[in-house]
Order: sequence, then structure tokens, then C-alpha cells
Amino acid sequence: MNKNIIQLHDKKFEPFISYEQIDRAIQYIADRLNKEMKGKNPLFVPVLNGAFMFAGDLFKKLDFPCEISFVKFSSYVGTTSTEDVKQLLGFETDVKGRTVVIVEDIIDTGLTIHKIIDQLKQKEAREVKIATLLFKPDAFKGNYKVDYIGMKIPNDFIVGYGLDYNQYGRNYKDIYKIVE
Ligand code: 5GP
Repeated sequence: MNKNIIQLHDKKFEPFISYEQIDRAIQYIADRLNKEMKGKNPLFVPVLNGAFMFAGDLFKKLDFPCEISFVKFSSYVGTTSTEDVKQLLGFETDVKGRTVVIVEDIIDTGLTIHKIIDQLKQKEAREVKIATLLFKPDAFKGNYKVDYIGMKIPNDFIVGYGLDYNQYGRNYKDIYKIVE
């Protein structure tokens, strides 16, 4: 057995994206945010739990003063996205008239972000931008633009770098993909 394979619960995962590749993708997003968001006083809204590592690395690369406020939703059970998105931790900052940048680890069906955009519109945000480290184009069902994408990936279930399989695997520095 490949010694780099990891086991979480009943499933095995193999190395897929190295931290070096992740870091390059984050730098690409950060360079664009540094150009386009400076002077807009944006509110960054990372989505827990998955985005905590991405958020930590991304914000260290931003070179202008900015505000950060985490939100939490749940839609994933096991290895599949459910249609039911529950809000567990909401917006603590007034978003009215603000530029808001949602920060996600991965966009799959796009449903979670869709719900967050709806809420931000209701709260009268001036504009909503979306930054995601990973994007699965073949699974995406949204009708909105994803503004900042670090990397496009196929429709495989992945873990590591903040992403879990039933709450385990978030701690790995690299990203792993499920072994079918
Ligand atoms: P969506 O609402 O776009 O279908 O799903 C978004 C959320 O589902 C992400 O924030 C993430 O928590 C979870 N998710 C989507 N794809 C994957 C995946 O391949 N692996 C893991 N661990 N979580 C995923």
C-alpha cells in the first residue's frame, strides 16, 4: 500500500494537491484581491469550518487593512452535499452598503454560497464577491459568477487543508482525494 495514503473512518484517500500548489493558488487570489479590493474597505466572510485554513493563509497575504467575520452553515453529510443548508453562526457585522467577499474552501453545487448571497442581499450589502480556493465546475448549479477561483478540480470527494470527511482530515496540509 502507498505509504502516503491516509485512512479516515471507512475510506482511503490518496495525495492529490500539494501544499506548494495550494500556496501558489492562494497567492494568485491574494494578488488580485490586493489590486481590486484595496480602497473598498471590504468585509471578508470566511465560511466555517472548511475555510479556516484557506482563510488563515489568504489573509496573511493581503496587504491592506480589512475586517474579517466568520459564518457557519452546514450542508454536507458524509461525502454528499444535501439540499438543506442550515445557518449555525450568522453575520455579526452590519453589511449594509458594504463590499462583502465570501471566502470558501470549495464550491461544489454552489448552494451554500447561493443562500449566503441571498442573505447578504436582504441585508443590503452593496456588492458581493466570491473567493474560493477550489471549484468543481461539473457539479456547479449556481447562476452567479464566482469571482476569484484558486483551482478548478474534477468532481471527486477530497479532504485535507480544512476539508473533512465526517469531521476528520481537516488537519492535513495537503489535499487528498478519495480512493474508489
Ligand atoms: P455546495 O453548497 O457548494 O454544494 O457545498 C459547499 C460545501 O460543501 C463546502 O463548503 C464544503 O464544506 C463541502 N464540500 C464540497 N465538496 C467537498 C469535497 O469534495 N470534500 C469535502 N470534504 N467537502 C466538500
